[in-house]
Amino acid sequence: MTKFVYAFSEGSRDMKKLLGGKGSNLAEMVKIGLPVPPGFTVSTEACRTYDEQGQKLTEEIKTELAEAVRRLEKDTGKRIGDTKSPLFVSVRSGAVFSMPGMMDTVLNLGMNDDTARALAEQTGEPRFALDSYRRFLQMFGDVVLGVETERFERELERFRAQRGYTSDPELTADDWKTVISVYKKLIEHHTGSPFPQDPNVQLQLSVEAVFQSWNNERAAVYRRMHGIPHSLGTAVTVQSMVFGNLGDTSGTGVAFTRNPSNGKKELYGEYLINAQGEDVVAGIRTPQPIRTLHEAMPDVYDSFVRVTDKLEHHYRDMQDIEFTIEDGTLYILQTRNGKRTSQAALQIAVDMVEEGVLTKEEALLRVDADQLHQLLHRRISGDNNLQALAKGLPASPGAASGRMVFSADEAESWAEAGEKVILVRPETTPDDIHGIISAEAVLTTRGGMTSHAAVVARGMGKTCICGCEAADVDIKAETMTIDGTMLKKGDVLTLDGGTGEVFSGSLQMEEPEMSPTFQLLLGWADSTRRMNVRANADNGADAAKAVEFGAEGIGLCRTEHMFMDPARIPVVRRMILADSKRKREEALAELLPMQRQDFEEIFEAMEGRPVTIRLLDPPLHEFLPDKEELLIEVTTLELTGDAPEKLAEKKQLLDAVKHLEEANPMLGHRGCRLGMTHPEIYAMQAEAIFLAAGQVHAKPEIMVPLVSHVNELKAVKAVIEREAERVQRETGVHVDYTIGTMIEVPRAALTAAAIAEEADFFSFGTNDLTQTTFGFSRDDAEGKFLRQYVDQETLEYNPFVRLDEEGVGRLVEIGAHDGRSVKPELKLGICGEHGGNAKSIHFCETKQLDYVSCSPFRVPAARLAAAQAAIMHQAEKEVQPS
Ligand code: PEP
Ligand code: MG
Repeated sequence: MTKFVYAFSEGSRDMKKLLGGKGSNLAEMVKIGLPVPPGFTVSTEACRTYDEQGQKLTEEIKTELAEAVRRLEKDTGKRIGDTKSPLFVSVRSGAVFSMPGMMDTVLNLGMNDDTARALAEQTGEPRFALDSYRRFLQMFGDVVLGVETERFERELERFRAQRGYTSDPELTADDWKTVISVYKKLIEHHTGSPFPQDPNVQLQLSVEAVFQSWNNERAAVYRRMHGIPHSLGTAVTVQSMVFGNLGDTSGTGVAFTRNPSNGKKELYGEYLINAQGEDVVAGIRTPQPIRTLHEAMPDVYDSFVRVTDKLEHHYRDMQDIEFTIEDGTLYILQTRNGKRTSQAALQIAVDMVEEGVLTKEEALLRVDADQLHQLLHRRISGDNNLQALAKGLPASPGAASGRMVFSADEAESWAEAGEKVILVRPETTPDDIHGIISAEAVLTTRGGMTSHAAVVARGMGKTCICGCEAADVDIKAETMTIDGTMLKKGDVLTLDGGTGEVFSGSLQMEEPEMSPTFQLLLGWADSTRRMNVRANADNGADAAKAVEFGAEGIGLCRTEHMFMDPARIPVVRRMILADSKRKREEALAELLPMQRQDFEEIFEAMEGRPVTIRLLDPPLHEFLPDKEELLIEVTTLELTGDAPEKLAEKKQLLDAVKHLEEANPMLGHRGCRLGMTHPEIYAMQAEAIFLAAGQVHAKPEIMVPLVSHVNELKAVKAVIEREAERVQRETGVHVDYTIGTMIEVPRAALTAAAIAEEADFFSFGTNDLTQTTFGFSRDDAEGKFLRQYVDQETLEYNPFVRLDEEGVGRLVEIGAHDGRSVKPELKLGICGEHGGNAKSIHFCETKQLDYVSCSPFRVPAARLAAAQAAIMHQAEKEVQPS
């Protein structure tokens, strides 16, 4: 038979799944002899059963609950509802993963007219007893009976006003008696029944209310945000009350064993004398810093310090502890691993190794790799309690302030004039690149985490918020309206790319640094990981940044970003618009030295580390101006008729744009398909690579994009090899190189064995592979439906952020396996955005890829994640020997 209720003495910290975090930790504290008021826990299993039974407590649960109460009565020598020695309990939620403040709590349960009188007699403090009773009525009324707490507050305010009181301590015992009868009437009026005096009924109803609070809106939102499964359910902890409001020798507080903000080893917290737990949370009175307890109650303080040391050593982690002092005696009500900032997490992990508490491997696992980037970006300083104007997707972290502009050209000209600007667009296109470069940050109202703005900004380490749909941008009027508030060009905004929040005005910032502690931890990571970590970088400066952050090579150099340079766009356009092979070759010849210089700069910055260069990937029309804008220009020129040459030029451009236009450009004439129809472009790029590599003695890895059939790779390879031979012949310099391909469409993964025959390496382009596997547009899906899919749990997570292991991952697995089956030495990597995501990196480790590649700013996090993956994968293998 299933057991639903466990006394603290029956549990341990290993039973978290069943008893919740709170229940299991209370049990553990009892086990190690700490002063914990006795109690029991109703399990998560009971919560699930309650839900399955249509929100009803089964007879088994009710019986076990009653038995547990009897046992508790025996342990405490008190009885629930007794008129001489009454037992009072607290009823609290306790989920498996901590969800602070999300669910409900009832204190002082067991209070009724008789027990309040008994408590008054027992303590000789009638005022205290009645104050506790009215608190219970209010909490029970709110949490269990659905009478909002504000209604009780209003009644209390009214009463205070009648009597001319300004604060609660002025109320006498008789006053509280009157308030209690007002509260009881309020409950009866709103629920249609009198307040239940029977403590057993109170208890059952409270347990049910906590179970129900698992499904309240804020708890559900919190779970969605933190990826906690809805199916887990919450446990309920019932614990005999200790009263912190029993006069000036009592109190209650919360403390962390280390500073949760910077990780410093010091007790950090606060307490209130003569108060109950909710007073600290409610912020009605200002709590005292914990160190002042040393003067107020030296003995209690000393025992508290001893307890905190013991807890930290026992759990081998920083603890967040709730305590109550009842008439000079200390009780511990809860302990859990404390939540902390990334900076604190790092400091604590490293300090604990130095203190001999943790091994280096354990310390590496203690730091959340996905949060680590917070340490490498400028951030808004201090506790910012400002209200955000709107929230979009946190596409690229960091924080920035600047004046709003609505066009890339204006971003550039304002920046040249020394203004800090934020580029605001519905979405960005490659045409906007100069604006992105000039801006402090980018805000778009459409597009997701892999939209153009997001990828480009991340690559540059520039703050970016995408898909901020609450903002209505009118490009023509140069305004942005959020919730009826209209902002115009030149108004100042601050963006927090780490949270996606948009603020009005300029906020104070903190500069990032790679601290010695950070370097130390990453050093441990480097000696632990198996996979290499490379960076996606397209120019010398980014490459140098990548090396500074510890990149061991470049996994993806997107050569189109070099074509986008405003100085080069006219040449690129001439190349695209050429009406003869000769003219095209002339334009390409002009591009050649520029490309060569780009590659030389990158090779030099990488100092012999491997560099993978991808040949041109996007459709050519991306290098041409926007059709709508051109149409307007042509029409205007036709109307005025005073610039015939310009009109002819614009018309030619418009014709080209129309000619190159595609219904579905993402599935269109791009990637190696471009190289198949315009081999001269790839030939020029290959020549530039070989000339640069010959100059600086680099060994380039040339990568062909979007291959779906081995014959495409064969054809492009022939062009590259021809160029290699020619350059060698002409320069007399031999260049060692390899040729590989991206695997970014399902057919490539499924025919990996054939493709591997022709390739030296595979790099999984998981952005396109996700797009083509799901059939979801990487530019539109998030704004249109993907966010809803994640919110409603149709999908567990956004597959453009974390690799979809079942689908896309399966293709990666097939590609890796089949490729290696014909060529064991085939080098395998990943270069989509997933290469910087910890869970995806773990997946890559399980498939034994050789490297991951991500934006330079994500390299440190990837180094840590790769080390964590290696440790965890090793442990998994030991549990399940193959
Ligand atoms: C990819 O598709 O995963 C990739 C890295 O290429 P891009 O993002 O440039 O299409
Ligand atoms: Mg791609």
